[in-house]
Amino acid sequence: MSAPFPFDNSYARELPGFYAPAAPTPVAAPALVKVNAPLAEALGLDAAALAAPEGVAVFAGLAVPEGAEPIALAYAGHQFGHFSPQLGDGRAILLGEVVGRDGVRRDIQLKGSGPTPFSRRGDGRAALGPVLREYIVSEAMAALGIPTTRALAAVTTGESVVRERALPGAVLARVAASHIRIGTFQFFAARKATDAVKQLADYTIARHYPELQGAKEPYLALLDAVIGRQAALIGRWLNVGFIHGVMNTDNMSVSGETIDYGPCAFMDAYDPNTVFSSIDEMGRYAYGNQPDIAHWNLARFAECLIPIVDADKDAAIAAANATLGTFPARFYAAYHAGLSAKIGLPEAGEEDVALAHDLLNLMIPSKADFTLTFRRLGALAENAGAGGPVRDLFLDREAFDAWAERWRARLAATGRTGADIRAGMDRVNPLFVPRNHLVEGVISAAIERGDYGPFEELNRVLARPYEEQPQFAAYAGLPPSMEGYRTFCGT
Ligand code: AMP
Ligand code: MG
Repeated sequence: MSAPFPFDNSYARELPGFYAPAAPTPVAAPALVKVNAPLAEALGLDAAALAAPEGVAVFAGLAVPEGAEPIALAYAGHQFGHFSPQLGDGRAILLGEVVGRDGVRRDIQLKGSGPTPFSRRGDGRAALGPVLREYIVSEAMAALGIPTTRALAAVTTGESVVRERALPGAVLARVAASHIRIGTFQFFAARKATDAVKQLADYTIARHYPELQGAKEPYLALLDAVIGRQAALIGRWLNVGFIHGVMNTDNMSVSGETIDYGPCAFMDAYDPNTVFSSIDEMGRYAYGNQPDIAHWNLARFAECLIPIVDADKDAAIAAANATLGTFPARFYAAYHAGLSAKIGLPEAGEEDVALAHDLLNLMIPSKADFTLTFRRLGALAENAGAGGPVRDLFLDREAFDAWAERWRARLAATGRTGADIRAGMDRVNPLFVPRNHLVEGVISAAIERGDYGPFEELNRVLARPYEEQPQFAAYAGLPPSMEGYRTFCGT
């Protein structure tokens, strides 16, 4: 095959010892599910060639494209608080990097492409359901404007993978700013390989934070920059009701992208204690815990950097702690700005934020739908007589009315027109998010009937999350059951 990917593999080239060579294992009977044509074009790739048999052969591990250097990356990580010194890409293989039309270097990785030296007892494979979920949710996040890895393609393998039961296998081709995780730093820090930590930090700065090159204290600046991106990211997650599900340190990217979609979900009824992952029995990664967990993970990152921040250990610890201490304020600044904008008050003054919190507190006992509450509020911002649909989401209607009266008075004081306020709200309050019942419906259609029509249609709707799409109104509806829903991991 001619070179479909203009690979330039800096990780393989510059970081020997940070990975193991690992070729994809060919699958029995590959079939294309989808190539993400707009993403392919943005990366400077030929979408038609990727969807042709030669492209499918690459995604299915039957052919290694010219210029690829397939490797599995080493990493460690805290999983549910417990440290594993050796994890690594057990079922993912980095083919190489391409520089997109925007000049940004990105990884092309196959997830589910067979065993690697890091597979331990795992089979290196992925089931179709989780592959479709990651495809849908990561693309939905991108359409929402939230930093995330992307889905370039999915193929089925024609093989079964055995989880709780036999399931059809699939491979996801994933695109990421990089696959450097907090756990990547931990791998080397745990081995006291200080030179390797420094090398990785230098690589990370050059790739993700080039503005820090030449800084007086580059590693402290790196910590500060990663904290800044994570604070902003978690704020964005909370503003759309996203729950990652498995925020282990190996699932947190130093680039600031959302990565490793497992049992993730968008919350329907608002409740900060919402947990979706059946493996998260303690609720460690509940919606409302995500900022604290991010802070905790960043502390693990800081620990890795201590030996290179300052030769004087006490000074390094003091400086790192001071930097870490900025996380809560930076997270709240991001989260509160977004929250206030959701009620039409992007000024985000102290009282605006308090008003938004009052609404959230009314939503909890009503199990008010997170997405619909804010979206429907937009209509009420524009027209005092249009409050019915949002009011209907609350059990205590009088309490909602009292809140709405205070809110409308505050909106009026801004001097903006109702139409203007509503337009601003509609730009930050999506109507369409990948609700669990929608994703599950798509997965069942694919597994049980080999029908990918629902997958295609859901992707199409979620590509324009902020626009009214009247013909797809059903996709904006509440789940059939308002009961807490849990995805079963088996990813
Ligand atoms: P994840 O749950 O995807 O974040 O993965 C956590 C760790 O388990 C990573 O090191 C993965 O590579 C590894 N892993 C998960 N599933 C498999 C599998 N089916 N085969 C081999 N390794 C796996
Ligand atoms: Mg992971």
